[in-house]
Amino acid sequence: MPPSHANPAHLTLLNYIGGRFVPAASGQTLPVEEPATARVYATTPDSGPEDINAAADAALGAFPAWRALPSCERAAYLLRLADLIDETSERLAHAESRDTGKPISLARRVDIPRAAANLRYFANAVQHASGEFHDFDGGGIPGGRPAINYTLRRPRGVAGCISPWNLPLYLLTWKIAPALATGNTVVAKPSEVTPATASLLCELAAQAGLPPGVLNIVHGGGPTAGAALVQHPRVPTITFTGSTGVGRWIAGAAGTMLKRVSLELGGKNPFIIFDDAPIEDALDTAARAAFTNQGQICLCGSRVLVHESRFEEAVRGLARRARALRVGDPADDATQFGALTSAPHLAKVAKYVERAAAQGGVLHCGGARTPAADLPARCADGWFYQPTVISGLSPACDVEQEEIFGPVVTLQPFRDEAQALRLANGTPYGLAATIFTQDLSRAHRVAEALHAGIVWINCWMVRDLRTPFGGMKESGVGREGGAEALRFFTEPKNVCVGL
Ligand code: NAD
Repeated sequence: MPPSHANPAHLTLLNYIGGRFVPAASGQTLPVEEPATARVYATTPDSGPEDINAAADAALGAFPAWRALPSCERAAYLLRLADLIDETSERLAHAESRDTGKPISLARRVDIPRAAANLRYFANAVQHASGEFHDFDGGGIPGGRPAINYTLRRPRGVAGCISPWNLPLYLLTWKIAPALATGNTVVAKPSEVTPATASLLCELAAQAGLPPGVLNIVHGGGPTAGAALVQHPRVPTITFTGSTGVGRWIAGAAGTMLKRVSLELGGKNPFIIFDDAPIEDALDTAARAAFTNQGQICLCGSRVLVHESRFEEAVRGLARRARALRVGDPADDATQFGALTSAPHLAKVAKYVERAAAQGGVLHCGGARTPAADLPARCADGWFYQPTVISGLSPACDVEQEEIFGPVVTLQPFRDEAQALRLANGTPYGLAATIFTQDLSRAHRVAEALHAGIVWINCWMVRDLRTPFGGMKESGVGREGGAEALRFFTEPKNVCVGL
């Protein structure tokens, strides 16, 4: 029985260092609250540099043996872990839903199966990766000599993995799976806001027989445990998913230490509906893109841009869909829309909606906390905010420019393709974009011109794990996913053989 989850009424979570479950060296803890009720239901270690040092030592100690294993043996551990996730999926889904406020149906359908899929994908990918080989003919340079080059890729050592609260287990496994598959050992720092499933994962890792020290999880705050991990001199690789502000600090801190860094940051993603789009399908998808996980997904389509001929119809249709969402207890199977994940986040979302109203925004639905009367009694104090649809704002205002990361979607009309592109590209972000149109040429032309690392045409959130994932501009640096992740976690060495 997992030690930290033995008493479900109040959980005492622990760090997992060198294969042992331990509290923070200081003995300090942080409270963990349930978003649906606003009540504390667990404590998590409030770790600091001492705990990160211990974890890095354990990971360094485990590294030589782990990297020396044949890749199929490392993969076998990850596949066992994936199987254990499947076997424990109901428990994990409940833990994720309770910790984040997301509907249990979403955790069951997406978060937990995708966590297992991440592990399976990278366990397999690493065994099918092909090497690089360059056949050199001398280059036409006088005296140039023919040669063959081959490139070796080896693990880099200890990977530091820092993840956010919106998709806790999914994004944690997205990082640790490629790191471990390629032969690195890991120190991970999950979000202190949602530590529950990371803690359960450690228990499954122990069950899977993962050698001690290969995966270490240290819980705690960002500026304490997170910063200590970023600045640890023997952790040369940092992969971070979170806000742009923290990403900027990490880029600086890791940059001066010449670390390799991958930053998956915020977004303000456009969702473009052209006049020829099948409008019902486009609006169904736009509503999903705006409100899934209460709008707390970096890939959410938070700015809907609609051709002026369909604008009124789109505003009405999106507001109707938002009102129809079943808001309720995240633990209820029928709930489609749960609670925001923290009280400060709820306050941030509310502040943006107030600013929208002050800046002339027209509110079509939502715009306030969900009244307690509309919620089950257990959830009366929970952090619920109504799905909100706003139009009429200037594209330059802060509500249209800054990431809200909540259930707030704005609409803007456009006249033609050029204006749609100007609006779409007119923020500091460049993570994802969606286009709805039946015109094949236009779809490809617009996809090429968008400032976004990921473009979906006539769909949203379709995720093929082999594809590059990440953003441009202030949405990040580097890419994860598929071969990009295998490259990120390995050091290339070219070997040139003169012929
Ligand atoms: P956050 O930046 O506050 O925290 C993310 C993680 O970083 C947490 O584990 C936190 O403890 C840690 N952290 C905070 N300060 C740190 C520091 N100084 N040093 C090291 N670690 C530190 O982000 P959040 O509020 O947890 O998550 C929401 C943000 O994440 C949104 O901006 C969202 O767009 C972004 N996000 C991006 C992606 C993507 O793939 N691009 C995916 C999910 C979420």
